Amino acid sequence: MLNSSLKELAAMLAGKQISSVELAGEFLRRIKALNPVYNAFVTLAEEETLKQAQAADEMIAAGRGQPLTGVPVAHKDIFCANGWRTTAGSRMLGNFVAPYDAHVIERFRQAGTVNLGKTNMDEFAMGSSNENSHFGPVKNPWDVRAVPGGSSGGSACAVAARMAPAATGTDTGGSIRQPAALTGISGIKPTYGLVSRYGMVAFASSLDQGGPMAKSAEDLSLLLNVMVGFDPRDSTSLQREAEDYGRDLERPLAGLRIGLPREYFAAGLSTDVERAVQAAIGEYRRLGAQTVEVTLPNTRLSIPVYYVLAPAEASSNLSRYDGVRYGYRAPEYRDLADMYQKSRAQGFGPEVKRRIMIGTYVLSHGYYDAYYLQAQKLRRLIARDFSEAFKHCDVIMGPTSPTTAFNLGEKSSDPVQMYLSDIYTIAVNLAGLPGMSIPAGVGDDGRPVGLQIIGNYFSEAKMLNVAHRYQQATDWHARMPEGAKAGG
Ligand code: GLN
Repeated sequence: MLNSSLKELAAMLAGKQISSVELAGEFLRRIKALNPVYNAFVTLAEEETLKQAQAADEMIAAGRGQPLTGVPVAHKDIFCANGWRTTAGSRMLGNFVAPYDAHVIERFRQAGTVNLGKTNMDEFAMGSSNENSHFGPVKNPWDVRAVPGGSSGGSACAVAARMAPAATGTDTGGSIRQPAALTGISGIKPTYGLVSRYGMVAFASSLDQGGPMAKSAEDLSLLLNVMVGFDPRDSTSLQREAEDYGRDLERPLAGLRIGLPREYFAAGLSTDVERAVQAAIGEYRRLGAQTVEVTLPNTRLSIPVYYVLAPAEASSNLSRYDGVRYGYRAPEYRDLADMYQKSRAQGFGPEVKRRIMIGTYVLSHGYYDAYYLQAQKLRRLIARDFSEAFKHCDVIMGPTSPTTAFNLGEKSSDPVQMYLSDIYTIAVNLAGLPGMSIPAGVGDDGRPVGLQIIGNYFSEAKMLNVAHRYQQATDWHARMPEGAKAGG
């Protein structure tokens, strides 16, 4: 059951071989056994979870079941869920109980899935290792000395350790793909605008996008079918006809043109990751695909551009946390200004403060043109690189992360080193394109390697097809870390 696909779980539920209450109970039991080690979950609400499972069982009994009805799903603690504490990994929201559902949560509720719990994350989704969480770091189930990646590290760990069959994440610069890569699972960041940001705690609004994390591409397609949908409450939500993201899964790959960006196989990529990625590409050739070299010449600008734009947007989004309306308020203060200052000084962690300072700086009078405006122009060039590349290929492939999972503490004292771990993922967000990561081998240290697949706008069904065919031919996605076996 731990390695069952979502389709198999749904079939067991529909066939009454197991009830949703039993299934949720089994995963809650595993969470209780494993979470003290991994710290993947920050909030559980067992009674509410079982109540939702009971309701799902009734839906199924009444013949109103949908494809994922009764399946438990863990949610990144960035999605507001009515009545659930929603912290975004921050002390600032440590006591915040959401009074409404995010659109994503609403969609999962309507689909009859069961909220298994809220997963740990870097504070306000700022980070690549989960070490920036107010609730402590998450451990990588492949090796507890290693980070699980970030910012959706709790979701990634929960799926990898089989504490949840699937989870949600968000990706502003790589936060679904990089933790998926580092923990050996699959994750997809959809085209910007497909998944509503309503009720998703905002970091950098022009880059943030929700998406699913699971064991396989097939599972991702079912989850995407639930998550994607127009929402008038998000002004960047796209109004498009509904798609079945699993419709092309089985298509043969003969004739597929894979673009390999020269810049993604250059200095900075560790040799073991390169070897695994090349082996995966070899497998694609055996499946009938052709490869062509493409170039994304502005790749090296993506990190500096991102670290102007994302902090600029974050500084604006985070101005709402003032200790007045909701969230943390300093217990002692002299006057109103002092209350603002102390609440923010005590409520935010160091990385969040660093970004607020950078953001307000680049937006300030006199620097706006030199930094913010310039970064916007470069963002356009980065997006143009991809449209040029897609003239020669159907999908782009490369590594998701330059290294396998690094050790806890290894990069936490050097923010720039930490930022560089997103070198292959960030440009995708700047361009608004869809990107995914699937497991494709292990490094010299035995830790997982992720293959990144980047598609053109709205090509999610094609990308999932490309990933699924590989997963039919290989078994990297089916491997389970030793530590997870301890959960019984
Ligand atoms: N690691 C990047 C950052 O720290 C991206 C995070 C994300 O995608 N949310 O901003």
